[in-house]
Amino acid sequence: MAWIMKVQFLGTGGAFSDFRENYNNNAIIETDKGWVLLDCGVTAVQSLKELGIHPSEIRGMLITHLHGDHASCEQFIWERYYTSPQKIPLWKPTNIYAPQDILLPLKASLSPFIGSFTNRQLQIVDSGTDDLLDLHVGMQGQIDDLNFEFFAVDHVSSEHTHKPSYGLKLTRGGKTVLWSGDKIFDGDWLDQMANDHHIECIFHECTFAPQYPGTVHTHWRQLQTLPTETLQKIVIMHHNKVPENEDVSMLKGHASRHQTFVF
Ligand SMILES: [Zn+2]
Ligand SMILES: [Zn+2]
Repeated sequence: MAWIMKVQFLGTGGAFSDFRENYNNNAIIETDKGWVLLDCGVTAVQSLKELGIHPSEIRGMLITHLHGDHASCEQFIWERYYTSPQKIPLWKPTNIYAPQDILLPLKASLSPFIGSFTNRQLQIVDSGTDDLLDLHVGMQGQIDDLNFEFFAVDHVSSEHTHKPSYGLKLTRGGKTVLWSGDKIFDGDWLDQMANDHHIECIFHECTFAPQYPGTVHTHWRQLQTLPTETLQKIVIMHHNKVPENEDVSMLKGHASRHQTFVF
């Protein structure tokens, strides 16, 4: 194969997108045995179905933070346990990888939804969060031949509060890409990452919505202040779609639903 790293977007919209037009900003990354799911919003399963990929083919999911467009895992968990392309239950638990301050509250939030369930012996039991989930707490790890490393980012943050949120460094076969997660603008960090020759591409969130105080996203006007060399390394995502009057041609790219990037 000519490429080593393959990233395909399930959607490039935020929490407010019209699902007829775009899905949540989630993606899949190829491994030697299947796919890793990068965030699982409410539209992840639908988007996977359109690509002909069943949740049972997902080797693990990485969760960056607890917002509905990134961590709505219930439907995925049921489909993976009870359904399959062969139309028979495979009884597969869902492998979720995340830092502790994401994974433990996620498990607690899922408990009222999946705690009681019908297991493979066809008994109704209360051990759903143990039987349906295979949780991996950690800042870094490996799924098949894909290495991942979470790094903390500021998303919903002030002097008084900090919602745990992460970006990801993803490496396969010597190729590395960065995934910003949902994140406010940090120009120095972006310049530094863009100057790192080991990094092929920075997938970075961006919004074209009107700029207002207290925004928890990176605005396109802020990205425009960056030097051309930095912008040439950035593929914007989470923007839903680029408005017609905006010129984004200086970027490495702007992702759209089901678009694939290879490195
Ligand atoms: Zn989001
Ligand atoms: Zn968010």
